[in-house]
Amino acid sequence: MLEDNFGRQFNYLRLSITDVCNFSCSYCLPDGYQCDTPRNFLTLDEITHLVSAFADVGTKKVRITGGEPCLRKDVVDIVAACKSIAGIDEVAITTNGFNLMEKIDELVAAGLDSLNVSIDSLNPAMFKLITGHDKLKNILAGIERAIELGVKSIKINAVLAKSFSTNHLGEFLTWIADKPITVRFIELMETGDGAQFFTQNHISGQAIKAQLLEAGWLQLVRGKQAGPAQEFTHPDYIGRIGLIMPYSPDFCRTCNRLRVSALGKLHLCLFSESGIDLRETINLNSQVATIAAIRHALDDKTVSHELAKRLTGGTKHLAMIGG
Ligand code: SF4
Ligand code: SF4
Repeated sequence: MLEDNFGRQFNYLRLSITDVCNFSCSYCLPDGYQCDTPRNFLTLDEITHLVSAFADVGTKKVRITGGEPCLRKDVVDIVAACKSIAGIDEVAITTNGFNLMEKIDELVAAGLDSLNVSIDSLNPAMFKLITGHDKLKNILAGIERAIELGVKSIKINAVLAKSFSTNHLGEFLTWIADKPITVRFIELMETGDGAQFFTQNHISGQAIKAQLLEAGWLQLVRGKQAGPAQEFTHPDYIGRIGLIMPYSPDFCRTCNRLRVSALGKLHLCLFSESGIDLRETINLNSQVATIAAIRHALDDKTVSHELAKRLTGGTKHLAMIGG
């Protein structure tokens, strides 16, 4: 098992397979994707080697992220490859959903267990304003199809921001009343390129938490390996609500994830200064060397991010390593 100097165990890998995204969310890529990094992303073989190495040291869950992972033509093969690796119990994907309707059947057939879709507003006009794309109807149809196909876990990620989140809790609650979906509200996090947007838009998730508790929602006790989200249920709703509040004290206490970028760099934290290159060891084709490199790097994992001091590390925007 991978463990850091603070006794945290890491059984969850977030693997970015591209940093390219076709959306231009106002808090992430307001000017759209700029091609300012190399695009020689990890190949299917390299991904298989890497995930096998992580699985050998206790990784149970892999989340495929981007940028937008479904822009890669081999995304279905990547899901199938991850699913076939011994020890990997759960393969998940985080997508903006732009082609979910076309892709979901193939992804599920390849072994996809869990789906996260980013939807910051259920209002089509607001959705277009945030993302630059009039795709909400299509994305919601893709989610309905995922429900029909019986995808085990479907979560919606909704970033909280002053300019687009006011009073939208009710819309999400109505939507999940009869759907097996968890909507997770995520506090806006500051990034290198997003300092101004952050200053103008950051709001705490505490107001939503208070509204939920007031309305009879119950907070679930977190499992030991559950990660940093708080989850809430209500007897009148099939769906659940989650809150991710990275500015809360102790947010990182249950950190259980490591990240690898599309270029094969290990990021010990979403807000690390830089990544540690694993590609050389991946291409030695030696599991032992890759595992040794990961273990060695883990010695430097810090106890927490330093967002409260407005230190955002090397993360210029969330598309870089999948948020
Ligand atoms: S901010 Fe960093 S340390 Fe905290 S939970 Fe996220 S990855 Fe882990
Ligand atoms: S990576 Fe996600 S948040 Fe960033 S622009 Fe793309 S869809 Fe939006």
